[in-house]
Amino acid sequence: MNLVSLIVPCFNEEANIEPFHKAIVDVFKELPKADFELMFVDDGSKDKTFAKIKEIHSQDRRVKCISFSRNFGKEAALFAGLRNATGDCAVIMDADLQHPPKTIIDMYKQWKAGYEVVEGVKTDRGKEGLIHKLMTKIFYDRISKAVGMDMRNSSDFKLLDRKAIDTLASLKERNTFFRALSFWVGFNKTTVYYEVQERASGTTKWSSKALVRYAINNVLCFSYSPLQIVTTLGILFSLVGIAFGIDALYSWIKGNAISGYPSLLFIMCLGFGCIMFSLGIIGMYIAQIYDEVKQRPQYIVGRTIE
Ligand code: UDP
Ligand code: MG
Repeated sequence: MNLVSLIVPCFNEEANIEPFHKAIVDVFKELPKADFELMFVDDGSKDKTFAKIKEIHSQDRRVKCISFSRNFGKEAALFAGLRNATGDCAVIMDADLQHPPKTIIDMYKQWKAGYEVVEGVKTDRGKEGLIHKLMTKIFYDRISKAVGMDMRNSSDFKLLDRKAIDTLASLKERNTFFRALSFWVGFNKTTVYYEVQERASGTTKWSSKALVRYAINNVLCFSYSPLQIVTTLGILFSLVGIAFGIDALYSWIKGNAISGYPSLLFIMCLGFGCIMFSLGIIGMYIAQIYDEVKQRPQYIVGRTIE
């Protein structure tokens, strides 16, 4: 018998807990040689999520929960799940049934065939606005380059073998980006495709602000290219400055007085703008270092159901 840990971050998902559990029970009826441990990670929900999990736990002891003292974010929830999972492998999935539970069967089969990381890849990105689509495309193109693997259409829906779980759980960094780190660990990989479903109940837990913060954090976590932008800008502006200098010298030799405050203002404003922008980028990396140095935990557990 193989034990599959299901790691499910939930933030205000009271209406989804019961249907989710039911869907998982149905899926495992089709996998007679496997049993599951359903590890909900309650990310500081304000609704009855924890009470719902407790209720289901009283009927099914395979249901467990780690509940945070407040909302720490999905990344923290995923890592708490990885650190506490006891299964031979783990499936990471959302609580809102947007990741179709039936796909677990395909993932499990791939794992049995010897794969250690089974990526869930979206066949399409579901219902997303044009701007959102464009932004995510730029973002994932960048991250794919940084990680050296194609991450477009990737998601947090994955199966990880015990080896990958242990590696990820042992990472010391606090600003994690699970989706990219699960590529970064390597191991024997394959993909399964799934169609993103409509959210079963409730609304998305990501505000636009939270999404932007998530994207910036992830770029900082995995890519040095923003720092390279700073260098490139510096070189560019030095070249423009040299060109202006040569032009001024040439005019002086020819006996023409240098005129034109507008051009001076232009170059100064642009130059200052670039310096500020560059300092901002460097500042963001320093903030990340500061975060890591403080060594605060990524999350605080308030209560558990075992
Ligand atoms: N989630 C979480 N903490 C948060 C935000 C979201 O644990 O701060 C969980 C949420 O309950 C869900 C999963 O992460 O199970 C994905 O969130 P959501 O469905 O809101 O994101 P979307 O599918 O809209 O990208
Ligand atoms: Mg969702």
